[in-house]
This record gives sequence, C-alpha cells and structure tokens, in this order.
Amino acid sequence: MAATKGDDVVVGDEGPEEIVDYDEEGSDNESSDKKAAASSEIKGSYAGIHASGFRDFLLKTELLRAVTDCGFEHPSEVQQESIPQAVLGQDVICQAKSGMGKTAVFVLAVLQQLDPVDNQVDSLVLCHVRELAYQICQEFMRFSKYLEGVRVKVFFGGIPEENHRRLLEDPAKHPHIVIGTPGRILQLTKLKNKTTNKPLLDLSNLKRFILDECDEMLKIDMRQDVQEIFKKTPHEKQVMLFSATLSKEMRAVCLKFTQHAQQIYVDDGELTLHGLQQYYVKLGEAQKNRKMNDLLDALEFNQVVIFVNSTRRCKELDKLLQEHGFPSMAMHGGMDQTERLERYNKFKAYKSRILVSTDMFGRGVDFERVNIVINYDMPKSADQYLHRVGRSGRFGTKGLGISFVSTQADAEVLAQVQSRFEVEIPELPNQIDTSTYMSK
Ligand code: ADP
Repeated sequence: MAATKGDDVVVGDEGPEEIVDYDEEGSDNESSDKKAAASSEIKGSYAGIHASGFRDFLLKTELLRAVTDCGFEHPSEVQQESIPQAVLGQDVICQAKSGMGKTAVFVLAVLQQLDPVDNQVDSLVLCHVRELAYQICQEFMRFSKYLEGVRVKVFFGGIPEENHRRLLEDPAKHPHIVIGTPGRILQLTKLKNKTTNKPLLDLSNLKRFILDECDEMLKIDMRQDVQEIFKKTPHEKQVMLFSATLSKEMRAVCLKFTQHAQQIYVDDGELTLHGLQQYYVKLGEAQKNRKMNDLLDALEFNQVVIFVNSTRRCKELDKLLQEHGFPSMAMHGGMDQTERLERYNKFKAYKSRILVSTDMFGRGVDFERVNIVINYDMPKSADQYLHRVGRSGRFGTKGLGISFVSTQADAEVLAQVQSRFEVEIPELPNQIDTSTYMSK
C-alpha cells in the first residue's frame, strides 16, 4: 500500500471497488478516416508547426476511425513528436503540459501494436489515483471500439480479491490491457492462479509498461511497489513514462527504467498553460468564504474546481456552499470508492458544476469543461500549483486560475510559481472580461 500527498490519497486495499469490463464490439471495416485528414487548420500552439493529421501516423483503420469519432482533428505537438516513435515500440519519456493529450499517445501506441493473445497481458498502465486509472480505461475503450477481441480491465484496491481472481482465472474475460494502481496490481501478481499455478496476474509476457504521472509514481513511497512490479516483467519490452512535471533528479530515475528512450521535455518556462489567465487574491483566512461566495456569484463558468488542503476543509466548504444555494459537490479520499466513482462520473457528465476537491484530483484527471480553478488553499509547491490549475484550460481551451494567498508561506509558493514558470500572476482586478476565460 502506498500513499501520496498527506492524508488524502491512499492507493491500496481499502474501500469498495469498481471493475470496468470491456465488451468487444463487432468491427466494421468501412474506412471513415477521411475526416481525420481533411482540415489543415492550426489550433493555436496545440497543433505543431507542421500540423499533420492522425492519418500521417499510419494507424490501423479501426483506430483512425475511433480517433475521428472522438473529434480529434489534429495531433497536439506532443502527440506529433511522440506517436511516430511510440507506435514503433521505442521507449518514451515524455514531459509536457497538462491537458496536451499525453494519454492518447500511449493509448494509441498500445492499440496500434497490440496483437491480442488469450490469457496474456500485453500492456500494463500504472497510475497513482483510482479515478485516473478508471479514466484511462475509458480512453482505451473509446479508442478500441472498432478493434475486435481486445479486452481492457482496470484494477484498484477495494473490492474482495476474489472478484479479481474470478476475472483473471476466466480465459474469456482475461484482459490484454491492464490498468491499475500499484498496491492492488502488486498484490495480484503475488497470488496464484488455482488452475495453472502461475501468478494470478502474470506479467511474464508483458510487451509494454507504462507509467502515467510518473514523477508521482516514482516518488519514494510508491516507487518500491512500482519497482517490484517492474521486476516481474520481461527485460525486453517497451517502456513509456509520462508526466507534466519532471525534475532533473526524476529524469535520471526515469532513464533507469528505459533503454534508448526518446526524451521529450518542455522547459519549465513554457510549462504554464496557454490560454489560462492567472490571478491571486490577498486576504485573511476569515475572509475566504465571503470572497468565494462573491466570486461564484460574479464569475461565469461552465464548471469550477475549488482546491483545499484537507479532507475536513473539503467537507466543510462544500457544506457551506450548498447552504448558500451553490450546486456544489465534494471529492476527497475519505469517501468510499463507489461514491468516489459516482461523483467522478457525475462531474464528468456535467451533472454538477462546482467541485470542492483535495489534491486527490490535483493532477491527471481530465474534466474538459472546467474553465475555472480556485485555490481556496494555496498548494504547498509550485509543481502542485501547475498540476491544479492545469485542470482548467484543457487542450488549449481558455481558463482562469485564482489563488487565495493568506499566509507568508502562501506568498512564497506564489513567488516560486512566478519565477519557476516565468509567468506574472497579478492581483485579481475588480472586473475581468468574461471572454478571456470563457470559450463561447
Ligand atoms: P494530459 O494527459 O496531457 O494532461 P489528456 O490526455 O488528459 O492530457 O487530454 C486532455 C484533453 O484533450 C482530453 O479531453 C482529450 O480527450 C483531449 N485531446 C487529446 N488529444 C486531442 C486532440 N488531438 N484533439 C482534440 N482533443 C484532444
């Protein structure tokens, strides 16, 4: 079992769990990929200089069709740089801004190369939070919908091991692609299949090993589990590591997991998010609720995420907002897993517009309609700030980030953010032009 950041995120064995089953659909090979290559319009910096279509990656027709269905017209810069090598099986270390579409890089690379064999796990994706694992599984399902016979499953701590056992011991359900959090995955590799006496989750045929949010995964507390899982996989395999932030020290760690990797790093100065307006508000702790109330009344938003630094504050702020008539919802590590997933789905489906969250949802999770992030509590580091504000302005859309600064420590983090990411964050003016943070 391993934990990230303080008290909120525990990846491991507690709480009920959800398993997503992939039911394969029949494949219809009619080529409808023309749209994918049709337009050559460049969308801001999110398409590279030599804007190409997904068609240029020579993906399988079934994949290209799914890409078109997803509404992806042009690959982002990071997709253009990494997909051509990744689909050929090269190792990749990729650090690029939040919301740039890193998930599609490994999802497409896996599905393009996958040749499903019964009872064999071809690809393993590890990440640090259950909802992110769930989200990645959904992406695999979205992109594999025209591929025949591909099974994808997500595993994370919570439900009785027995349920996972049933699934892994049934050849008709055994997945080719496994996504999970390290605690449960490691546990499943240590159990035995009662029929074959091999490991229940047998990674001895693995062809691809992927870490999303790899700097979080390779921090000391989780690294041990990740390493132990890694050691159970064959020496020859493709390794792909992704993160929005990657310190020099962490890059060195990443290199140890890879062989001749293609390395894509974005300078810190370029990391702040395109299209994102950022401001701070200086105020005392006692003024935060009043200010939050005023902001939610005054600002226009599709969806907003409000970050706080503890579970207790999360519950209390959510309660207070609801008492004042705001359609708010809380999300923290203290909730049971079924409820966590229900709320994740509710927010993702736009059925709620305000989410009060701990850092559990501070990175990786993609809510495409969020256009405002408010740091009710300032994060503890510049990196965490970047991950949090990256929840808005996804894939080049507009967004607004507002941070409450109430202590000297908060002011120091704000100063670090400004120097590290070479960005100026001014004080929140009385009026902001809505068009600067709301896409129409
Ligand atoms: P990251 O992992 O880099 O933070 P995600 O993979 O979560 O980013 O992608 C962010 C959002 O952008 C998602 O909603 C995803 O569906 C969308 N997206 C990714 N690639 C493209 C593309 N080429 N065109 C349009 N939307 C895209």
